[in-house]
Amino acid sequence: MKESLQEIIKLTKEYLETERLLGTEVIYLEKELPEIIKPEPVGQGFSLAQKEKSKPDTKSRSEGLPYSSPDIDIKNLDDLQGEVGKCTKCSLHKTRNNVVFGEGNPDAKLMLVGEAPGREEDIQGKPFVGEAGKLLTKMLKAINLKREDVYIGNILKCRPPHNRDPKPDEIAVCKPYLEKQIELIKPEIILALGRHSAWTLLGIDAPFKAIRGNVYIFKQAKLIPTYHPAALLYHPAWKKEAWIDLQLVQKLYEQS
Ligand code: SF4
Repeated sequence: MKESLQEIIKLTKEYLETERLLGTEVIYLEKELPEIIKPEPVGQGFSLAQKEKSKPDTKSRSEGLPYSSPDIDIKNLDDLQGEVGKCTKCSLHKTRNNVVFGEGNPDAKLMLVGEAPGREEDIQGKPFVGEAGKLLTKMLKAINLKREDVYIGNILKCRPPHNRDPKPDEIAVCKPYLEKQIELIKPEIILALGRHSAWTLLGIDAPFKAIRGNVYIFKQAKLIPTYHPAALLYHPAWKKEAWIDLQLVQKLYEQS
């Protein structure tokens, strides 16, 4: 009993500290910690793994989006980065200032996958360096991780004009690069940031709120969808659920 009280105090402190780091003005009280949902191995590829009762009525998104295995005969990230740096496979190469390949620990246990570079990222050629990136750094700090501990990439490597949503044809031609990155890094956990990232990686078409809260299998990794940091800047109330997702990531990270 004494131990459990100490544990509660410890977790409460962590929760309050995280809310402070995330800039939250309203504190949410949770009766219990989020449950870790054990994913079930599912053959090749990916599929919904848990919560059968609340499983959304999904349809395959990959039918309209070719999800080919990467036909890229490259053995390391540096060579892949060189290849992506020359890419002109979609029209985004015409408007980009820099290709944003991704960065971080090439042996990371945790890989973060966003949607596409924004203005600052396009200028600097680095992922998540704008305001959303600052929040992402705080989110990682809240689970005792630094940016250098993880690998950060995006579905698209070039900025869509005016930060519009990625188009299906752009995703289709760029995704093999991400697949190859994942194959080379071999993360144990993938945090999919935002609906486009989750939809693309999972290949399912369902409301984001129905997708998040589960753990999925993507190749050999456990995949957790959560809100994009940019969305959290506009919708601070969503930080409560994002924190639940982060706690799940932390637990899986510590278990791996
Ligand atoms: S977004 Fe991807 S496919 Fe399109 S030009 Fe950039 S690297 Fe190539």
